[in-house]
Amino acid sequence: MTPPRYRERKSILVTGGSGFLGSHLCDRLLADGHDVLCLDNFFTGARRNIDHLIGHPRFELMRHDVTFPLYVEVDAIYNLACPASPIHYQRDPVQTTKTSVHGAINMLGLAKRLKCRIFQASTSEVYGDPSIHPQTEDYWGNVNPIGPRSCYDEGKRCAETLFFDYWRQHRLEIKVARIFNTYGPRMHPADGRVVSNFIVQALKGEPVTLYGDGSQTRSFCYVDDMIDGFVRLMDSPADLTGPVNLGNPAEYTVRQLAELVVELTGTKSKLTLAALPQDDPRQRQPDIGLARERLAWAPKVELKEGLQSTITYFDRLLAAA
Ligand code: NAD
Ligand code: UDP
Repeated sequence: MTPPRYRERKSILVTGGSGFLGSHLCDRLLADGHDVLCLDNFFTGARRNIDHLIGHPRFELMRHDVTFPLYVEVDAIYNLACPASPIHYQRDPVQTTKTSVHGAINMLGLAKRLKCRIFQASTSEVYGDPSIHPQTEDYWGNVNPIGPRSCYDEGKRCAETLFFDYWRQHRLEIKVARIFNTYGPRMHPADGRVVSNFIVQALKGEPVTLYGDGSQTRSFCYVDDMIDGFVRLMDSPADLTGPVNLGNPAEYTVRQLAELVVELTGTKSKLTLAALPQDDPRQRQPDIGLARERLAWAPKVELKEGLQSTITYFDRLLAAA
């Protein structure tokens, strides 16, 4: 890709930049010719995700916790900092809410001072266990405010509230993406999310754990498609604040996913049933009509293809361990 002209080259802050999605976003922004300030407290992020960027002349890494104020000079902010997998965000639930809420306040305050655009990595979890299907952006959700998932779900909902209040009150340019389940290389092998769990279990020849009976559904988006959606939303006209659903509408039961992983890895692992976690949503599928219309965006990578490259990644990672 040819580097953009000087006027178009921006200095961009990515919070949570050493995580799964954040590291891919850093790669993309550098490839587009921007300067990237990657900020992370390494709660769930990994050095190996960004090791290849250390020494890059337009990349800078900063260890910082977004729950504390930040004073830097940038032209745009992508706010991704927050653990995303249930076992990680439930490990220290108070810190999870602080990261979402105090983190949003600090990053919005920074954006206000700098008068710059700010992107928020929100989530399909704002819909909770949805009673409409597929989920559209105007659905207000069905979220338990006091359950084990609430630190994340309500934290992200409050962050959305803050984004829209800064937009109404301070005319800040905001971009809120509601991200549905995303997978790909650089997911943490032990983060407990379904795609990484199934692949790691299959590659190790261990039982593949279906929670409940595996009939609950999810829609899985490959990381490259998701990052392209982020960039399109950030670069969209100012009137598009979001929330915008980003995800792959192809819906699978968790059992179908397990069977596909078993087939693609060629493992001898058997499927096994385990307890369904409390408040586990029954179904989830994005309506991406808004993203199609306003961003000309739709996912391109099919599940089989995306799983194959994710399996290759984990295979190498496990072999190196
Ligand atoms: P991840 O856990 O791999 O990345 C999160 C990053 O944020 C990590 O590097 C972590 O160390 C960092 N972080 C956490 N708390 C922090 C703090 N207080 N200060 C600074 N850094 C902190 O998760 P991910 O899958 O890359 O998710 C990135 C963002 O996208 C999150 O905000 C998540 O809620 C959102 N999201 C992801 C998905 C998905 O399927 N991957 C779905 C919906 C929303
Ligand atoms: N899941 C499962 N086995 C696992 C991990 C997860 O059956 O080893 C299920 C989980 O109960 C949920 C779905 O897979 O119904 C997606 O879980 P994940 O933690 O990846 O994301 P989320 O529930 O936040 O969508």
